[in-house]
Parts: sequence; C-alpha cells; structure tokens
Amino acid sequence: MSGASSEADNSVVLSALQHVVFCERQAALIHVERVWQDNASTAEGNLLHGNADLPGNEKRRNVEVARAVLLRCDALGISGRADVVEYHMDPTVPGGKQPYPVEYKRGKVKNELADKVQLCAQAFCLEEMHGMAVPRGALFYGQSHRRVDVEFDTALRERTKTAIKRMRELIETNMVPPAEPAPKCRSCSLEPLCLPNVTNRRTNASEYLVQLMHREDKL
Ligand code: SF4
Repeated sequence: MSGASSEADNSVVLSALQHVVFCERQAALIHVERVWQDNASTAEGNLLHGNADLPGNEKRRNVEVARAVLLRCDALGISGRADVVEYHMDPTVPGGKQPYPVEYKRGKVKNELADKVQLCAQAFCLEEMHGMAVPRGALFYGQSHRRVDVEFDTALRERTKTAIKRMRELIETNMVPPAEPAPKCRSCSLEPLCLPNVTNRRTNASEYLVQLMHREDKL
C-alpha cells in the first residue's frame, strides 16, 4: 500500500505512520512528493506481504483469520489495510470474538517503534469499527519467523496519535523536512534520491549543487 492520504476522504494512510516515525523526510518524500524507490529490502517486504495480502478468511481451532482487511477510523482520520486480523474466540468480550491485528514485516527489524505505531493505528480502526477495546496485537518478522506480542498501552497510543498529527501536518503543508543523516539512512530505500549528506540543513544551496554535480559525474 502506498500513497499519502486517500484522495476521496483525505484520511492518512496507515503505512505513512510507520514512515513518519522512521524518518519524517522519508515520509514526506513518499507521501507528499510521491517518490518511491524500491530496493532489496522493500522488494523482500513485498514478497512477504504477498502471502498476507491474499484476501480471504479461514478458521483454525479457536481463531478466525481474516486477510487483507480494509480498516478506517473516522475519529482519527486514518484508513488502510491490515495484513491479517485474527478473531480470538472469547465468551467474555462483546460478540464473543476479540480482534487481534497481525502485521507482517520483512526479516530485519529496522525500527520496532515504527512497526508498533502502525499496528496500534490498526487497533484504533478496529476499536471504532467493532465498538470494543483492542488491547493487543502482534508483529511477525519474516526472516526470523519471530512473532512479537504488542500491548497497546497508553504511551504507544499517545505516540501513535502524535504520528498521525505530524503526518497530517506534513501533507497539509506540503512540507519535506531536511535530511538528518543517521545510521538508519543505510537501510533507507530512498537514500539515492534523498542524498542525506548533501540535503541536510547544514548544507547551503551552492554546496548542495556542487556536491550533486560531483555525484552525477561519478554515475
Ligand atoms: S536517506 Fe536518511 S534522511 Fe533521507 S529519507 Fe532516508 S532515512 Fe531519511
């Protein structure tokens, strides 16, 4: 799933929240400037998502599994799709089924907080859609086949709301923050387009042009 906000209703897409926590510049390049650069990591992620993206439902013992579930939360202005929502049979909750979102991620953990924020936003959607609390979910990391249980506690909920607000600000103001070069840039699919070492706020315009020409000479 890509794109900034839904053209129809102006909601912020769930995937943008993961990006804005990882790097605001990356989020703005993808969701404001509409730039996308595939690399091995995102290609691997797409393959992993391929399995989870097939729509459908199945039942396993006390769990119903729904795939590629469309989500939205009007109160917070977010929408998107969950890879998987499990419905755990539980007679103590309304309707007898407890929603439990599961987000699939490629093997190497790039930023677990960013992944948790995206998952928590899915929980906000499920809470509004089902009218019930969704206290937990899980992240599934493909390479390690590791499933991490995530509690949607107060701190994570607040961090998620902050990410939603910031992403909306970037979209509404068409703002692309300057680069802040950091180790995370090495795993960023947009590094060749972002040029973090020449577009950071400490580089003035003439330095930027000189460095850009130097880089193009090498290509
Ligand atoms: S290369 Fe670094 S600064 Fe640029 S978008 Fe990626 S993470 Fe952000």
